[in-house]
Amino acid sequence: MDAVNLLGFDLEGLAAFCEQLGEKRFRATQLFRWIHQKGAADFDQMSDLAKSLRDKLRDKAHIRALPVISEHVSTDGTIKWLFDVGNGDAVEAVYIPETDRGTLCVSSQAGCAVGCRFCSTGHQGFSRNLATWEIIAQLWYAEHSLRKRQGTSERVISNIVMMGMGEPLQNYAALVPALKMMLDDHGYGLSRRRVTVSTSGVVPMIERLREDCPVALAVSLHAPNDPLRDQLVPLNKKYPIAELLDACNRYLDKAPRDFITFEYCMLDGVNDTPELAQQLVKLLKNRVACKLNLIPFNPFPASGLKRSSNERVQAFAEVLIKAGLVTTVRKTRGDDIDAACGQLAGEVQDRTRAHIRMVRAPVVVKGASPS
Ligand code: SF4
Repeated sequence: MDAVNLLGFDLEGLAAFCEQLGEKRFRATQLFRWIHQKGAADFDQMSDLAKSLRDKLRDKAHIRALPVISEHVSTDGTIKWLFDVGNGDAVEAVYIPETDRGTLCVSSQAGCAVGCRFCSTGHQGFSRNLATWEIIAQLWYAEHSLRKRQGTSERVISNIVMMGMGEPLQNYAALVPALKMMLDDHGYGLSRRRVTVSTSGVVPMIERLREDCPVALAVSLHAPNDPLRDQLVPLNKKYPIAELLDACNRYLDKAPRDFITFEYCMLDGVNDTPELAQQLVKLLKNRVACKLNLIPFNPFPASGLKRSSNERVQAFAEVLIKAGLVTTVRKTRGDDIDAACGQLAGEVQDRTRAHIRMVRAPVVVKGASPS
């Protein structure tokens, strides 16, 4: 048996691994706690495990973090790590501290195949899915390195958003065990309400997530009609808005929160007019229980797009709020360290010519006048 990285096993998987080593399944719980609750990487630290088991583990397994390429700390406390996942690929995780919570934004793929028009990761093209251990390694490293630097043994990360690089629902098989480890009381012990999967709208996988591991759901909407969304989120051609909203409603039957969050990236002159705000009201009101999150676009040179002005974002928000839709405008964080997803990794490698394709295909806007 080749040495395996134990960061890749949820508790069930670790129990099966312990059985293969001729050990009782309950040993897995002790081991799991050492790894995820205490951040141990060295089997010799695990003082309540028999020496014979530690010897076997040393022989057959390891606990290995992803190499850190860089760490950037913003003046607002946001921290962004760039991790090496081999073959010239890198992924990012971002820690966002707030007074009442600490949120970690985690990546699920190296690059992304969806190719959203405004997304730096989409411009880099798709390289590969991350394994479960590579998803969890971002959390494991962030949580335990933050505890060390803050001099605490208490949990630092209280919320996780699968909103970094990649479309998590296109890496479903690796995602679900990672989510289970985040939720497990012997692991990170986060409530389902505090773990959010963000998707561009992979309808069949929304249905599966609802059955397998319902956590909070955020959907990248970005447009109130199919022609515009087709251009901004190409997956819309496969799963148009009406199908997506139906899937969201079905998801709510089992969701830990009683609303879906719709993300809407504000692009100057593209999707930010008062008319489109009215369309959004018409689309969502009394259709799906939801909250709207308006996101100021974090411009990057290859996009050819601009951030909407604050006035325009406010005017857009007001239309929604007046109509009774719960709407927030996301604060920009870590601007000084390029904290929007994919911006650092894009400097490491551009694996495809996707960015050129997209820059050459300008977004055609009907009924929206550029400011
Ligand atoms: S926004 Fe998300 S789904 Fe779209 S290209 Fe970027 S990483 Fe992929």
